[in-house]
Amino acid sequence: MVYAARLTVLGSLNMDISVTVPELPVPGATVLGRAAVFAPGGKGANQAVAAARLGADAGMPVAMVGCTGDDDFGRTLREALRAEGIDDSRVRIVAGAPTGIAMITVDHAGENMITVAPGANHEVSTADIIAAHSAWSHPAPARLDAAGSAASVSAASSASRDVLVISAEVPIAVITAALAESAGRALRVLNLAPAPSRAQAAELMAAGPDWLVVNESEAAAVLGRGVAGLADAAAAAADLVAAGARNAVVTAGAAGAAYCGPRAGTGDAAGNQAGNGDRRSADAGQSAARARPGVVTVPGFKVTAIDTVGAGDTFVGALAVALAAGVPPVGAVTAAAAAGAAAAARPGTQSGMPRPADVGDATGHRWPVTAR
Ligand code: ADP
Repeated sequence: MVYAARLTVLGSLNMDISVTVPELPVPGATVLGRAAVFAPGGKGANQAVAAARLGADAGMPVAMVGCTGDDDFGRTLREALRAEGIDDSRVRIVAGAPTGIAMITVDHAGENMITVAPGANHEVSTADIIAAHSAWSHPAPARLDAAGSAASVSAASSASRDVLVISAEVPIAVITAALAESAGRALRVLNLAPAPSRAQAAELMAAGPDWLVVNESEAAAVLGRGVAGLADAAAAAADLVAAGARNAVVTAGAAGAAYCGPRAGTGDAAGNQAGNGDRRSADAGQSAARARPGVVTVPGFKVTAIDTVGAGDTFVGALAVALAAGVPPVGAVTAAAAAGAAAAARPGTQSGMPRPADVGDATGHRWPVTAR
């Protein structure tokens, strides 16, 4: 038996072109690197791949909504999605626009410089997300608030529901429209990455996404103050909820992640079990959790980091799968942190994204979404 929930990812597809150099160039300089490495990327596609791998055992369908050009990079990117079992039928091929690329220069210490040319990603339109919704052929499953106090997936799985994941490498107007169009039809997870202007961020948060996910630098850009470490992340998560998000997560790299959501017992559809779903993370939610009602900190899982690029996208994809399966909020954030840590412990971006067994191997945390 498979989960009834469907997972849709609205976002970018890019060809990542990486060159490793001895030293990053200063303006005007030319540096020599080794051969360029071409790999599928883009936040949207990365999140779709993470979700597909982590939801595959449970038979959770993942569809991508986005645009590529009618060129070789576009064909390669769509083929990479299909190879992961992702439905690419809603990735529109735009004649006359080049497929998005990211030019990545990285030195031996892992410092990098990235230039993104969005190309076709900026052609994504509101019609694309409406078409994706109308393509769903069966009625939406039960709402998450049916979960009650379920603490395990087997108990909570009747609460599985559709999830729409949106990241910010597509036009802001399309994100606004997608949030409005999917309200009540799907749990909307907004990853404000890269961070838009403060005014745009405020507008998007006011649209009331069910979940908002940002890393430290994105939280800093959105809130207009420094955010560094788990205590700052906790305060930022609380402020993002105050700004309109129903549930907010601020990721803080190896330090872990902070979650803020509605308090237990409020009956909120998306997050009524803060602090209840996972004893380990609730117990670990130290001073910040006490200082801020509704805030829980999830310390990072200890891994030997090899390549942290893509950890954030893995976190978002993993969170979406867990929420779609009906895992309560703190359990979902903890599972996402374990998946992010597993991604950091593996080389490559999409190629390093973990499957359930990899999460267990890297962190000892059992991936909570399994076949029923
Ligand atoms: P981004 O890639 O967007 O900058 P982060 O670096 O905050 O995002 O990583 C996202 C999540 O992945 C973190 O909240 C954490 O749970 C996990 N993670 C990332 N790097 C590490 C690491 N070195 N060790 C353990 N967990 C990590």
